[in-house]
Amino acid sequence: MTLLDNASRPPWPWQKAAWRRLYEQKQSGSMAHAYLFFGDRGTGRMDFAREFANLILCVDPADDQACYQCRSCRAGGAGHHPDLLLVLPEEGKKDIGVGQIRELTEFLSLNSFSGQGRVAIVPRAERLTLSASNALLKTLEEPADKAVLLLAGFSPGSLLPTIRSRCQLLSLPGPDPETATAWLRERLADNEYESDDQLRELLEAYGNRPLELAPVVRAGQTSGFIALRQMLLDLLEERVGVLQCAREAAKIGESAVFEHLVRVSTILIRGLVKGDLRGAEYRALAESLPEQNEIGRLYILLEFHRQAVTARKLLAGPGNPNPQLLLESIFRLWRKPELRRAG
Ligand SMILES: [Zn+2]
Repeated sequence: MTLLDNASRPPWPWQKAAWRRLYEQKQSGSMAHAYLFFGDRGTGRMDFAREFANLILCVDPADDQACYQCRSCRAGGAGHHPDLLLVLPEEGKKDIGVGQIRELTEFLSLNSFSGQGRVAIVPRAERLTLSASNALLKTLEEPADKAVLLLAGFSPGSLLPTIRSRCQLLSLPGPDPETATAWLRERLADNEYESDDQLRELLEAYGNRPLELAPVVRAGQTSGFIALRQMLLDLLEERVGVLQCAREAAKIGESAVFEHLVRVSTILIRGLVKGDLRGAEYRALAESLPEQNEIGRLYILLEFHRQAVTARKLLAGPGNPNPQLLLESIFRLWRKPELRRAG
């Protein structure tokens, strides 16, 4: 590992202050037995927790970073560290069950193989069932020696107050738009996006969550998003028809299209509600909507958003919906004649 590689590992730039706080606790031997990291989705909570586990287990850390060279780091990097347990909902299930928490409790009670301690991570703590939460509470009341539990979730409110009160809470802020854009730019090849403005637009569409956006850009979906936003405007201004739009959109991929439509409508709705719709393209879209006043525009957008969310769910579900019909239906709604401005 070179120094350069440090920049491509968590903590991400917007998490540095929180990281420093934890590192100082580790250095002074005042670490808590349990932490709850909370913050927005797509800003790297999970990366943060994993990296902190690496640091705890590293035999020879370099300042506040795991060394990535010792045996412990190599095992952790490969996901096979005997002192590290990651607890996620089991395949096909939404929740984390009580059986998994019993395993976690047993895991934390055993002696460390490496001598550095044992770490269990529950990255989606809001998925704990009530009985799993109660089982976890017992573990928190009688923490094992040199055992650390790292929970991560949206907000402290998504957990039982009794669990919350036994954890040290650490808020993980998301990035500001400039930091997020710079971070993305560093990680993307030049040919993966066209301009900084485009990146900023997409970031906004993705609620300023660079970790969610990066794979979309890498999958070549940037141009699909931009093309679709333009399609919506062309439809409103009657430059293209519904069927043509549906055909063109199908080339982007139906699932991606509905994801994009959800994002575009979210930006428009958020912008109208807050009264600060940014980006000339979005203002043009909002102004082309067939309603003179904002309430009317919001009404159309909310209906459109609802249908895009439903279609996205249908396409991901076990049924076998006709994607072409879904596309035609949503574009037809966008130009629904009775919603259009009279005269
Ligand atoms: Zn190491």
